[in-house]
Amino acid sequence: MHLSRYFLPVLRDTPKEAEIVSHQLMLRAGMIKQSAAGIYSWLPLGLKVLKKIEAIVREEQNRAGAVEVLMPTVQSADLWRESGRYEAYGKEMLRITDRHERDMLYGPTAEEVITAIFRDSVKSYRDLPKNLYNIQWKFRDEIRPRFGVMRGREFLMKDAYSFDLTAEDARRSYQRMFVAYLRTFARMGLKAVPMAADTGPIGGDLSHEFIILADTGESQVFCHRDLIEGAIPPADTDFLGDLSPIVDAWTSLYAATDEMHDAKRFDTEVPAESQVTARGIEIGHIFFFGTKYAEPMGARVQGPDGQMVTLQMGSYGIGVSRLVGAIIEASHDDAGIVWPLPVAPFEVGLLNLRTGDAATDAACADLYGKLRNAGIDVLYDDTDERAGAKFSTMDIIGIPYQLIVGPKGLKTGELEVKVRADGTRETVSLEAGLARVI
Ligand code: ATP
Ligand code: MG
Ligand code: MG
Ligand code: MG
Repeated sequence: MHLSRYFLPVLRDTPKEAEIVSHQLMLRAGMIKQSAAGIYSWLPLGLKVLKKIEAIVREEQNRAGAVEVLMPTVQSADLWRESGRYEAYGKEMLRITDRHERDMLYGPTAEEVITAIFRDSVKSYRDLPKNLYNIQWKFRDEIRPRFGVMRGREFLMKDAYSFDLTAEDARRSYQRMFVAYLRTFARMGLKAVPMAADTGPIGGDLSHEFIILADTGESQVFCHRDLIEGAIPPADTDFLGDLSPIVDAWTSLYAATDEMHDAKRFDTEVPAESQVTARGIEIGHIFFFGTKYAEPMGARVQGPDGQMVTLQMGSYGIGVSRLVGAIIEASHDDAGIVWPLPVAPFEVGLLNLRTGDAATDAACADLYGKLRNAGIDVLYDDTDERAGAKFSTMDIIGIPYQLIVGPKGLKTGELEVKVRADGTRETVSLEAGLARVI
């Protein structure tokens, strides 16, 4: 991509309306534009990151055996009356009336929709277990939308729903998502800790929130220090096998959110030097809630003995759009964002320090072509900005590698490679520069 043709409205100054660094940097890097309170447009750079995160989430859901669907954003209130949640959900639900005076709503979550789909199409225990997920926009009329996409009103969520015959089977479905979440967040460069959590309005009796530690987080959390560096299950983990050893290892050490915290247990189970009391950001949340929705909505299948059995269900959310902000909270410096490579909007930034100079333009065009041929996503700064502005833009938007090309270096066939994460700069030959990033 040539920067001269791209849409990247970078801000030089820190916007006053943004309180936390991720929100400030997302605005400065031209990733989002607020459209109304808690409602954002995703500009090209922000959208690329969102899509990368979405792709990792999708890959790990698929690996764990979940199957993708796409449910509507607008739902019928009648479904929520069946489950009994329509009144209970309260003011966070955006309620809409259509032209026929029918009550509709913009979905804040989709337990009712998926339960209805399942109820109407699955009749036998032989079709179980199943886990269906979608990555879809949600709306919650948050009382205090803030921190940019971190607490939006409209936000992108991955929500998965598992269906099993028995509570024991459902526990295995829960474990598959637990392990998938460990892998998903680690692949984004995050150290997420699963913590015993309250089930809130979703209901149920087994639940973990996946939390990353950050001073700007809205949750108060308590955990054993070793969990922050916990072992991540490998890509070839057998999701059809017994995942209890992995889950047990992670849940044997103390970790709880505020609502579930037990100060006495914390003090007895965790040595003082390993006690972490911190703020955290909730990036994912998994629930097992048994028959809470299946029972009132009549979601049953025929069991092996011919008797009808009410389905055991769980639901599993990931805040896909919140993750964009959360990753920035975890990975930035004074100059801007420092994207972990797997979620970076571009892998390489190519800086032409003397646009209009024939030799520099030709060398950059050649490098650009070679990078593209190697399948590297490059942002080529071919604008006629001064060098200082180009450096600062690349640093703000956080591209992992910068190839810096100017007439002086070219005289000896050299360019500079800058690694955004540690700021190191090295002068090397053009070939060596390419080899560093391909
Ligand atoms: P919170 O405690 O932050 O309000 P929640 O517990 O209400 O979140 P869940 O119902 O567990 O949220 O939804 C699953 C995931 O969706 C959360 O873990 C979070 O990552 C994300 N999420 C929830 N609300 C928002 C929001 N307003 N903006 C962005 N992401 C959100
Ligand atoms: Mg909430
Ligand atoms: Mg919560
Ligand atoms: Mg939650």
